[in-house]
Amino acid sequence: MNTVAPKKEVDFDPVALRKRYDQERDKRLRSDGNEQYQEMKGDFSHFIEDPHVVEPINREPLEDEVDVVIIGGGIGGLLAGARLRESGIEDIRIIEKGAGFGGTWYWNRYPGAASDIEAYTYLPLLEELDYVPPRKFADAPEILSHCNNIAKKYRLYDNACLQTEVQKLVWNEESRRWTILTDRGDKIKARFVLMVNGPLNRPKLPAIKGITDYKGHTFHTSRWDYDYTGGNSHGNLTGLKDKRVGVIGTGATAIQCVSHIGETAKQLFVFQRTPSGVDARNDRPTDPEWAASLKPGWQKKRQKDFTAVLTGQGAQLDEFDDAWVDLGRIFRRRMQEAGSDFKMEDFSKMYELSNFEKMEDTRSLVDDIVENKETAEALKPYYAYMCKRPCLDDRYLPTFNRDNVKLVDTNGKGVDYITEKGVVVDGVEYELDCLIFATGFEVGTDYTRRAGYDLIGVDGVSLDEKWSKGMSSYQGIHSRGFPNCMLIGNGQAGFTANYPDALDEAAKHMAYLVKHFLDNGITRVETEEQVEKDWTAEVVGTKAVTVMGGSSCTPGYYNLEGQRDPRARYNQPYGGMMGANSYFAKLKAFRKDDKMPGLELS
Ligand code: NDP
Repeated sequence: MNTVAPKKEVDFDPVALRKRYDQERDKRLRSDGNEQYQEMKGDFSHFIEDPHVVEPINREPLEDEVDVVIIGGGIGGLLAGARLRESGIEDIRIIEKGAGFGGTWYWNRYPGAASDIEAYTYLPLLEELDYVPPRKFADAPEILSHCNNIAKKYRLYDNACLQTEVQKLVWNEESRRWTILTDRGDKIKARFVLMVNGPLNRPKLPAIKGITDYKGHTFHTSRWDYDYTGGNSHGNLTGLKDKRVGVIGTGATAIQCVSHIGETAKQLFVFQRTPSGVDARNDRPTDPEWAASLKPGWQKKRQKDFTAVLTGQGAQLDEFDDAWVDLGRIFRRRMQEAGSDFKMEDFSKMYELSNFEKMEDTRSLVDDIVENKETAEALKPYYAYMCKRPCLDDRYLPTFNRDNVKLVDTNGKGVDYITEKGVVVDGVEYELDCLIFATGFEVGTDYTRRAGYDLIGVDGVSLDEKWSKGMSSYQGIHSRGFPNCMLIGNGQAGFTANYPDALDEAAKHMAYLVKHFLDNGITRVETEEQVEKDWTAEVVGTKAVTVMGGSSCTPGYYNLEGQRDPRARYNQPYGGMMGANSYFAKLKAFRKDDKMPGLELS
């Protein structure tokens, strides 16, 4: 394996690139930030209907009690359930709005859907399930099936409520229980509630003028309509053979599905506001010798090493060999070249030059693949690496060499408006039979809006009221006034691009907490006021230490759409985008001697 990125002729002009990046950012900055998006309710609620329900559940409302309710049956909820079971906690109920488990992978079944974090670190509990993925990258069906296997192994279907949406949670001080009210009329009591709603669970639409006028077929990628397109998540969308299709959005989702649409549609228009950086994927079968050589504990170590690499620690770089480590390798090579001339005060400059070099590589890949020069130019991302979610895909760029596929670049502005027939850009109307929104998910909007329910806590105060000026928590887990209720995987906690790693850290922590509370007869847990204030202030005061999440970037959900909404800063991860390891260390220190610092227990 390469230990050093190959030395290159570096012929970019940092001054010109810096200027270009600024220009590209400035033309995309807008005062409405997150408000540019349309919430999927009212006229838009059909966009989030579940297309995967085979048999609608018909059951009597429940009025019972359990020790722990987990809201959300995605990877985070499954991990919480698994870790609770491992701790011997049996009285668990997962409530999930989908008809099955999997969360992101239950909903996102669009053609080409896959993880582009290697499966060996992404798929949780591999050793526990005695499973080594057959290929480096897992696709959506494999991940969904793995989620189901976790649920089976840890008996999480037992007592679960699927196709059930939580509508409200109400705290009862006397009984020290939460009552969970659902859209099926349930009134479930729980001693502890774990909210694992997922950070990207609420699809969003752009609030483009005329969006309700469109008369053709339309859907969001997270609710792919195979009845209309034909095919499945491996492609073969035969229903599109005679259709003119438009895709709005060119984020990680579009990068994966566009090639499949282009393969079969009569005509495909891809409407682009900002191009994604697309690196080679180079998927390959798992080496059986490597698989046979794995020793117990291998996966945890690999996950930790990957998170270390993603958070800027170089020691484990050579364990990995995909585009995620390119920047680290370039940086290391530049350090080695500088030798004893390198001074710590040059760190930022060297990081910036390495980042320029990485993105030059990504841009040159476009030139290597895309034949039309104008299209190639428009597909090049002019912003720093990690300003937007990097993509790994070998099929996207070649799609633009097809005669039936056209990139409609909007020069950072987005489409002008939508008519009953199609989409208008620069005065040209593109008539469409089908308009697909690959426009992503809400991030940084109010928690209760994304969760879809509110909590009524101590003295009748709701979470919505308490967080009206922004999220407030201790460890991203506890919020005063909402005892016995804990959050997993949202703001103010640790974030890593290998998200299941952060979810598992949280799940293990929850299992530790709940077991401690149950074993010690603790019936009420609440965070201390000052501790919560301090934690929240630290999160809000955190400035991005690298470009990821930084205000120098083109807007997007990584930097809260340019950070125009001051409340959005409260939803940042602890320590910013590079703080995962220090966050995990904090949780570990908290658990050290069972003292529960910062929590009031009774
Ligand atoms: P994103 O939020 O990343 O992308 C939304 C896209 O819609 C952007 O290209 C955005 O442009 C565009 N857009 C929004 N409004 C307009 C408009 N008015 N006109 C034109 N374009 C518009 O959502 P995705 O679903 O692509 O991805 C979300 C996240 O899900 C990813 O970042 C990743 O974390 C995860 N994911 C991971 C995958 C993987 O592992 N491979 C695959 C898919 C998703 P602009 O950039 O200018 O805002």
